[in-house]
Amino acid sequence: MDNIRRVVPYVPGEQPAGKVIKLNTNENPYPPAPAVQEILNTDDAELLRKYPDPSIGPLVKALAKEYDLKPEQIFVGVGSDDVIGMSFLTCFAGEKPIAFPDITYSFYDVWAELFRIPYKMIPLKDDYTIDIDDYDGQWGGIIIANPNAPTSIELGIDRVEELVKRHPECVVIVDEAYVDFGGTSAMPLVAKYPNLLITQTFSKSRSLAGLRIGFAVGNPELIKAINDVKYSYNSYTLNRPSIVAGVASLSDRPYFEKICGKVIATREAAKKEMAALGFSFPDSKTNFLFVTHEKVPAEFIQKELKKRNIYVRYWKKPRIDNRLRITIGTDEEMAALYAALKEIISQCK
Ligand code: PMP
Repeated sequence: MDNIRRVVPYVPGEQPAGKVIKLNTNENPYPPAPAVQEILNTDDAELLRKYPDPSIGPLVKALAKEYDLKPEQIFVGVGSDDVIGMSFLTCFAGEKPIAFPDITYSFYDVWAELFRIPYKMIPLKDDYTIDIDDYDGQWGGIIIANPNAPTSIELGIDRVEELVKRHPECVVIVDEAYVDFGGTSAMPLVAKYPNLLITQTFSKSRSLAGLRIGFAVGNPELIKAINDVKYSYNSYTLNRPSIVAGVASLSDRPYFEKICGKVIATREAAKKEMAALGFSFPDSKTNFLFVTHEKVPAEFIQKELKKRNIYVRYWKKPRIDNRLRITIGTDEEMAALYAALKEIISQCK
């Protein structure tokens, strides 16, 4: 059948059942805010019987308050995957190719293929950093993840601003999925640059990957255009429990800061432990490390860890096929990881 759309889909990390140490999909090891847990235990039947607010009003309002923005500057969707997908469809509708790094979130080329957007992958430098000079020229759009994934490296905010400033011809999307773990957000720049769109998620720093909440911040005209595309496809994107839980999550900033601080502290300790085990990695500003071992191949380590019920992420892809992306877990989970790694590495000596 010729009239079938055939695409090569994005492959998410494994979600194994049962009790395992899961360091493969960058989830937060701590529970969501207590207020979220209370709301999800509700017996309010209305929460499920009625359609949700198509404008996701309460959550948009709460985000505006939290980030000192106007509601018209915010778009909310079903995880940042939905938000970025809708943004591709809306903002990258021209004929010229869009640009993004060759090593980055591997959904970008999948969306470009799905929506038939021409694209060019710009190679990262050998040390996996982004050089914005490599983006000089005229594009149909640009997207970077900052900090980048799976590299974990942050591009300095001055470089981000320069990139946005150099490309008034197109929308520049900055995917800040991991920014809450010590990165600097470009959000203060949205008032200055109408071509800047920032996306963030509740999946990592707010421990709500299971609810699927993401949002974009940008100029009101851009946000309206994305909303119009959304309303042309599916009006009721975010479900009612997710809307109220999202609002509840935003109501407890001290808890948010506490768990981000815990992940950051464990990450900094992990840098020392992993270096002592013979691993090297870029300086992470995220909730994961992107490691390579001086002697033992990454794919072997991943398989050996899996035998011990410890899941980490490996890609058999050019330039990163001797690397593992390891999510920061609790201190106990990390201790079990170090013990397993010690055993695996000693077998190879
Ligand atoms: N951007 C990046 C860089 C990511 O790693 C992820 C997580 N897979 C996402 C966006 C999407 O996250 P979510 O849809 O859970 O918000």
